[in-house]
Amino acid sequence: MSSQPLHAASVYTEAELKAAVEAAENWNTYVAVHAYTPRAVQMAIRSGVKSIEHGQLIDEETARMISEKGVWLSMQPFLDDEDANPYLEGSPNRESQLLVSRGTDNAYNLAKRYNLKTAWGTDNLYSARGATRQGAKLAKMVRCWYTPAEVLKMATSTNAELLVLSEPRNLYPGKLGVVEAGALADLLLVDGDPVANIQLIEDPERNFLVVMKNGVIYTNLLG
Ligand SMILES: [Zn+2]
Repeated sequence: MSSQPLHAASVYTEAELKAAVEAAENWNTYVAVHAYTPRAVQMAIRSGVKSIEHGQLIDEETARMISEKGVWLSMQPFLDDEDANPYLEGSPNRESQLLVSRGTDNAYNLAKRYNLKTAWGTDNLYSARGATRQGAKLAKMVRCWYTPAEVLKMATSTNAELLVLSEPRNLYPGKLGVVEAGALADLLLVDGDPVANIQLIEDPERNFLVVMKNGVIYTNLLG
């Protein structure tokens, strides 16, 4: 365990995680955990957890286990760049951040090699600026790992497959992740072709002409 930073601790015991999974299943839903290290991820999977949020420090053995158990990996590009949380140089948080940033490339490569069920997730929603950067973060994935079509699919129809795991407790009953009659109409109209130019989604204020959620139009720049 010497390769782990000191505070990369596991918060729960395996018995506690199993109890949480059992309680969630009794409640007709499932458990997702926020975990980075192989130890934490493997413990979660052994406990019956269905979705790993983050996972940037996984190794090959853990990727195989995720694949075998059909567990979801809900990741995001935590890189040492303009979107990184500011931490004091040399502080434990900064050390962890650098470790996670270096792990991100490895984790996405493993996710691709083992064809893991990979969702686009985030819990960076707590600042006004962070919220505006979601499209830019998604577009970043194209620099290193995916095609524009792959990231757009990941954030839409693939994410929908993960969200419906919470049925019948799904807060948005109705078909998710498809465009068809009777489905929940969460739609964006982009001024251009994001498959050809993924940068369009970096600036939603400018390039998203229509934003519709559940059939209600919230933004309409078409006049
Ligand atoms: Zn988290």
